[in-house]
Amino acid sequence: MIKIEHLVKNYGAHCAVDDVSFEVKSGEIVGLLGPNGAGKSTTMNILTGYLSSTSGKAEIDGIDILRNPLGAKRLIGYLPEQPPLYLDMTVKEYLNFNFDLKRCKLDRQQHLDEVCETVKIKDVYNKVIRTLSKGYRQRVGIAQALIGKPKVIIFDEPTVGLDPKQIIEIRNLIRGLGKEHTVILSTHILQEVQAVCDRIVIINKGKIVANEKTENISNVVANSRRFNIKISGPQKDVLSALRNLQGITYAEVLAERDGDAYTYMVESEFGVDIRKKLFFMLAERGWPILGMEALGMSLEDIFITVVDKSEESKSLSDAQPRTKRRVRGQERGALERELGESLFENAQRQRETDALHTEAQDDE
Ligand code: ADP
Repeated sequence: MIKIEHLVKNYGAHCAVDDVSFEVKSGEIVGLLGPNGAGKSTTMNILTGYLSSTSGKAEIDGIDILRNPLGAKRLIGYLPEQPPLYLDMTVKEYLNFNFDLKRCKLDRQQHLDEVCETVKIKDVYNKVIRTLSKGYRQRVGIAQALIGKPKVIIFDEPTVGLDPKQIIEIRNLIRGLGKEHTVILSTHILQEVQAVCDRIVIINKGKIVANEKTENISNVVANSRRFNIKISGPQKDVLSALRNLQGITYAEVLAERDGDAYTYMVESEFGVDIRKKLFFMLAERGWPILGMEALGMSLEDIFITVVDKSEESKSLSDAQPRTKRRVRGQERGALERELGESLFENAQRQRETDALHTEAQDDE
């Protein structure tokens, strides 16, 4: 439904979008994630026809946005970071105004009713927009984007400035929209893409550094290989035994103490469920387990690794690995680093395959 190929955008000598290619399938919700200045808004502005690209191609449902901007724009509903609301209008006036602006051919009342039902703003339909809360204003902004039943909806930072309850409501709303529309949203919040999107595209300094199904990331994150475990026994000996147990990659003592028991944080190798082995080893030594709790992975750390890795590969002209090798039991956060590195490597492989594909097409 959305196809971007080798997109480049230069601002003078500065390259804001540097050979970006990705696709969004019909009905997919894709999150464009990246730090400030990564090139997210520039990419979205090219997609929505607000900016022209220096080179490359962007298509919406087979229509080239540069060659046929009006045709492509007809397929898009767009909610910019600052919703284009007219505060002195009522919701009713504003939505009717947008209906006319888009020259919508649908049955006016029925369509506006449907849109208001979808975004749940029927109760404020006759209110002046200025009097609405930020959450309701955001819904009105989304309603505006939905007018005309566009196939593609593009949201720029849709939950910025909302309170936690409003954030959950808007995220649920966007998830629901994925049933009938193809959605692309930009955000700098990793949890947001995880909660809402089917696919995560991470962009840094104008380049795609990861492009992965959310479930692939979530599965790894959920199958935690990190535990807090409370063990009764001599602290130094317990820690040393943990660090020496085959399958454990990291162990440290946390500050909590309960009588002669300490809480330890342990991480295990990929694909290893260390719990049974750990139980038998500790039982053999006479050190009872008083509690065990699985811990999640830090999405932030995964994200930082992907971004760091992309900068590292950019600054190294030769392929010398600069990453410090992990010392067993000595380095925290290794799980996130491993996953981040594998995401980056997948994206790099994808880029290489794309490049080969393009060369083959050029040769034909
Ligand atoms: P993001 O949305 O990810 O924060 P942007 O797409 O806004 O990033 O910006 C990408 C890069 O392009 C940044 O380095 C930014 O400073 C630069 N940039 C954006 N718009 C302009 C412009 N109109 N003129 C010059 N540089 C720009």
